[in-house]
Amino acid sequence: MLSRDRVEKYYRFYGARHSILQVGYLIDFEVEESGSFLPRIRSISHIGFKWLYNREKLFIWHRFISIFEPHLRDVTQIDPIYYETLLECVKKWHLQSPKRLIVESYIKILKHEGRLQPLDKCLICNQSIDKNIAFVGKFIPAHPSCVNQHPIRKESVEYLLNSFSSIWLNDEEIERLYLIALKGF
Ligand SMILES: [Zn+2]
Repeated sequence: MLSRDRVEKYYRFYGARHSILQVGYLIDFEVEESGSFLPRIRSISHIGFKWLYNREKLFIWHRFISIFEPHLRDVTQIDPIYYETLLECVKKWHLQSPKRLIVESYIKILKHEGRLQPLDKCLICNQSIDKNIAFVGKFIPAHPSCVNQHPIRKESVEYLLNSFSSIWLNDEEIERLYLIALKGF
C-alpha cells in the first residue's frame, strides 16, 4: 500500500463479505495491529472515479500502476512525489489522454530521482544528437538510425523534460515514449 510517505504491507482477510480489492484503487482504511503477523486493514472505503467504468482508461491505469510495484518493493519510507503524482493522475485521468499523463509523470519521477541524462550525445556512437532522437531503455538518448527506431523531435522532448508538458509531442511520439515508460523505472 502506497501512502504519501510510506510503503506498507498489510494483511487482508478475503471472505464472502469482503469485496475484492483491486490493484490501483485509491482507498481509505483503518489499521488493526495483530501481534507478530502483518497488521490488518479494515473499514476499507473505496474512493471512486468515473473513469473506472471506462475499460480502456482502466486498462492503461493498471499498466501504469504495475511499473511502481517492482520499483518500490524494498522501500518503506518514501518521498511524497510518487503518491502525489499518482493522485494528480487519477484526478485528471478522465480529462486528458492517459498516455500523455503517463509520459509526463514518468519523466517527473525520473527527473526527481536524478536519472535523466542530457540529450546531447548518442549512447551508441557517442556523436552529438541534432534534431531527431530515440531512446534506449529508460530515456537514454540515441540516434534513431543507431537503434533502428522512429525519430522523435528532440526539441519537443527537451520541452517535456523541462516543463513536464507533452504539448509539443504528437500522438505517435507519445505512443513511443509511453511504451518506454511501461518498461518500468
Ligand atoms: Zn548514434
